Amino acid sequence: MSLVTFAKIAWTIGVLAWFLIRLPFQIKARKTGVADARRKNAREMILLSISTCGLGLVPALYVTTGFPAALSYAPSPALATLGVMVFLSALWLFWRTHKALGRQWSVSLELRESHKLITSGVYEHVRHPMYSAFFLWALAQALLLPNLVAGFSGFVGFGILFFLRVGEEEAMMREAFGAEYDAYCARTKRVVPFLY
Ligand code: SAH
Repeated sequence: MSLVTFAKIAWTIGVLAWFLIRLPFQIKARKTGVADARRKNAREMILLSISTCGLGLVPALYVTTGFPAALSYAPSPALATLGVMVFLSALWLFWRTHKALGRQWSVSLELRESHKLITSGVYEHVRHPMYSAFFLWALAQALLLPNLVAGFSGFVGFGILFFLRVGEEEAMMREAFGAEYDAYCARTKRVVPFLY
């Protein structure tokens, strides 16, 4: 098996594992009452679609057809190995964030009935560890897929969602939790512990 084929299979397994981790939470979320969905709007849906293109559709097109072949470069065993390790750490963190959020989790910006603010476990040092996991996924994609478009589309797609959503999300949480959320923000960073 060529290195590129190996890396493509690794990326595919990573994405499938991501779906399997999320599935039970997605099913539970459907049964959980929503208290506030004012921010679940067309803008949100567009941002989610852009992210899905960058982390899913664009690399899937490359994995299945090699498109755009002109922008491929020589693969490196060291980068591919690192890519597998980064994807594994993204999946671990992704699973831990779902476990910690439990019924508070939602794909779009919503508040659940009797929503609780989670501040422990992987939420202790950063307030958006699930987004950290998505950035790790984007990094793994760039390390695994030796193609300029397919490799970097994850950063572009998820980056757009993150930067246009995070302020809205924090405003929603501040409105719901007030001083408790301000104190939480004061002692945490957004996605990288102690840095950002
Ligand atoms: N931004 C977080 C959560 C993403 S899921 C992260 O990256 O880990 C998005 C939903 O999670 C939001 O609609 C919000 O209702 C909920 N949420 C975000 N941070 C939370 C927290 N600290 N405690 C409880 N719910 C939270």
